Amino acid sequence: VHGWNKIPVAPPDKILGISEAYTKDSNDKKINLGVGAYRDNSGKPIIFPAVKKAEEKLFASETEKEYTAIVGSKKYQQYVKDFIFNNSGKDANGAKLIADNRIVTAQTISGTGSLNVIAEFLARFSASKKLLVPQPTWANHISVFTAAGLEASYYTYYDTSANGVDFAGLKQSLESAEDESLVLLHACCHNPTGMDLTPEQWDEVLEIVQRKRFFPLVDMAYQGFASGDPYKDIGLIRNLNERVAANKISSYALCQSFAKNMGLYGERTGSLSIVTESAEHSVAIESQLKKLIRSMYSSPPIHGSKIVETIFGNPELYKEWLSNLNSVVSRLNTVRQKLYEKLDKTNYNWDHLLSQRGMFIYTGLSAEQVIELREKYSIYATENGRFSISGVNDNNVDYLADAINKVVN
Ligand code: PMP
Repeated sequence: VHGWNKIPVAPPDKILGISEAYTKDSNDKKINLGVGAYRDNSGKPIIFPAVKKAEEKLFASETEKEYTAIVGSKKYQQYVKDFIFNNSGKDANGAKLIADNRIVTAQTISGTGSLNVIAEFLARFSASKKLLVPQPTWANHISVFTAAGLEASYYTYYDTSANGVDFAGLKQSLESAEDESLVLLHACCHNPTGMDLTPEQWDEVLEIVQRKRFFPLVDMAYQGFASGDPYKDIGLIRNLNERVAANKISSYALCQSFAKNMGLYGERTGSLSIVTESAEHSVAIESQLKKLIRSMYSSPPIHGSKIVETIFGNPELYKEWLSNLNSVVSRLNTVRQKLYEKLDKTNYNWDHLLSQRGMFIYTGLSAEQVIELREKYSIYATENGRFSISGVNDNNVDYLADAINKVVN
């Protein structure tokens, strides 16, 4: 009845599948490099101390668990706008866009929820349904956008034989794409490659975006993970704001998440911002966003957003959060450096490791080599050769480097 017997089994999620296999492995030297979540130097997840303190304050003061607004609280929206677009007073163009009511911000169910809302929004209201995404990109991008009915196609991004950005190829493929397409840009710590464009390269890319009237859709899941400072990691946004202020780019959208940079993973706390052409457009766009979100999930969860509000509203906690974030990123950089030092460079050039930023290293190892690491050494990673360095620490870096050296040579 009802056709239930015709439902085929869906393929398992590659990343979650790795964690399952890892859990079953009884080798006490096993390492999980699949999951993109922070682990400290003893391999354990953490709660940022600033977050814990914000939660203590909330626990003492909260008197209700009422629903928030469809697009989240005004307070949350303002903090997020100020944090990202005003750049703490450093982005005059962004500040003016905020003052002119040209930014519509909604709290969303983390970054993935934000991507879903904008995907549904674009599927309804964008003239173009063609979305360009980098090759490679986070696999979920394709799933989210195609599920909403957009057509996703790749633009050149990475040269796997050279382990670096193929910038000439990137420009050429954007040039040859249809005018007025939608284009997905990773703000920083490109997932999976960890390889970002330089400010000069971004400038060239935005020239093309501008000339071809693409609609930029920025995904920012790792703000702060490139430099350790969230304000330094948003050069792309400042560049976009400058072009919007000069009427060269009319509008763009930004999907943002506090999962990584505040460690709020499971609290599902993020935002969607749409920079609009005018205050009138903002009114219409916000009303349509509300209509859309109301039918999808009614309103976002409140615990994570209250943590964000508490931290942003308290100068001491705010400073502490920035320092917590900085320590997390410096541990990742230290362990990245350690691994690099221990890798054998006789037959393999590992220099790309040092240019990559964020939670991952994109090793360039083949699927066969990744499988060998898993079968012989209990080292678990996705077969595209992406290793989450947060799984690496002082206790396992020697074992890991040794295994990689054996597999490569
Ligand atoms: N975009 C990218 C590129 C990501 O890597 C992630 C997290 N893995 C997200 C968006 C969204 O993450 P979340 O929904 O946990 O905020």
